[in-house]
Amino acid sequence: MGEFDLIARYFKRPPRHAAVGVGDDCALWQPTPGSQLAISCDMLVQGRHFFADVNPHSLGHKALAVNLSDLAACGAKPLAFTLALALPEVNEPWLADFARGLFELADAFDCELIGGDTTCGPLNICITVFGEVPVVNGRSLALLRSGAKAGDDLYVSGSLGDARLALSVRQGKLTVPVDVLTAARARLDWPAPRVALGLALRGIATAAIDISDGLIGDLGHILESSGVGARVRVDQVVKTIACCAQTTKPKNQAGADLVLEDWRALALCGGDDYELLFTAPPRHRAAVAAAALASQTPVHCIGHIEAGAGLRLVDDQGLALPDHYASFDHFA
Ligand code: ADP
Ligand code: MG
Repeated sequence: MGEFDLIARYFKRPPRHAAVGVGDDCALWQPTPGSQLAISCDMLVQGRHFFADVNPHSLGHKALAVNLSDLAACGAKPLAFTLALALPEVNEPWLADFARGLFELADAFDCELIGGDTTCGPLNICITVFGEVPVVNGRSLALLRSGAKAGDDLYVSGSLGDARLALSVRQGKLTVPVDVLTAARARLDWPAPRVALGLALRGIATAAIDISDGLIGDLGHILESSGVGARVRVDQVVKTIACCAQTTKPKNQAGADLVLEDWRALALCGGDDYELLFTAPPRHRAAVAAAALASQTPVHCIGHIEAGAGLRLVDDQGLALPDHYASFDHFA
């Protein structure tokens, strides 16, 4: 099958909102008057972001999900995306499953595939996503990393650490009971972009980012961009780990139960969660709770922003914890 047949069979669909979609030299899109475009691009490379034997159905989902997660973090409504695809071969069953995962998620967010590029090469998936944010009275409603203020509460959505747990099992660093692994793998392979929460937080959150590289690293971006510091109650983050609540517990390579220190490392450094990390002033506590409810997304307060630069980790008694987590692969 040639390149054009492949595109026509797996990726070309009639345009819905695009003025011109797949098939011409450019896609054409009519922006909503008075809004800004939000644009983000993420590449997934075999061996680095996924294993060669990954299920193509979940890969199609994840490739778009990680991009939609960036729109969510910005408070942008998804509109459309492009898909640049390098394929080692034309494997039709693989392509059919990949396209199914991609379009299931795209349709769930009414986000339209409007173009791309297809070439032969080592498997590589690059998606650029387009969203929009209203501008009200000359002010953009986009959520940025740079707006956190001293005194703001610090929140995280959903659960952290479970995706990393699944990855550690895959890497042979942990063993977990099968029910725990199933739940953790769902978090790794089928991330749910928090788009509804991001939209609900417009005008409420002062700063936001999506967690792709772990809480500590991604919080660092907010702190740096905003010129502030933070105090994080680590055990509030540990409580979000869904797998931690199971009765049958994971074991490390030596066959021992994970200790609190292990759970803290998972919660603070685990990547691939695609949850939102955001800040909001205490006067917006009720509004944050309402946004969580409206978007059907759990939200947890895990600390607050402080004027002094740097990150301070504390336990539930407020005692300082060592901050060696950032540079620390607990299961290495
Ligand atoms: P050009 O050579 O003008 O860049 P191409 O031949 O690469 O165009 O692509 C033909 C059409 O198919 C274009 O509209 C392009 O956006 C679209 N396209 C190519 N690959 C993909 C893909 N993987 N998914 C969606 N659209 C694609
Ligand atoms: Mg081209």
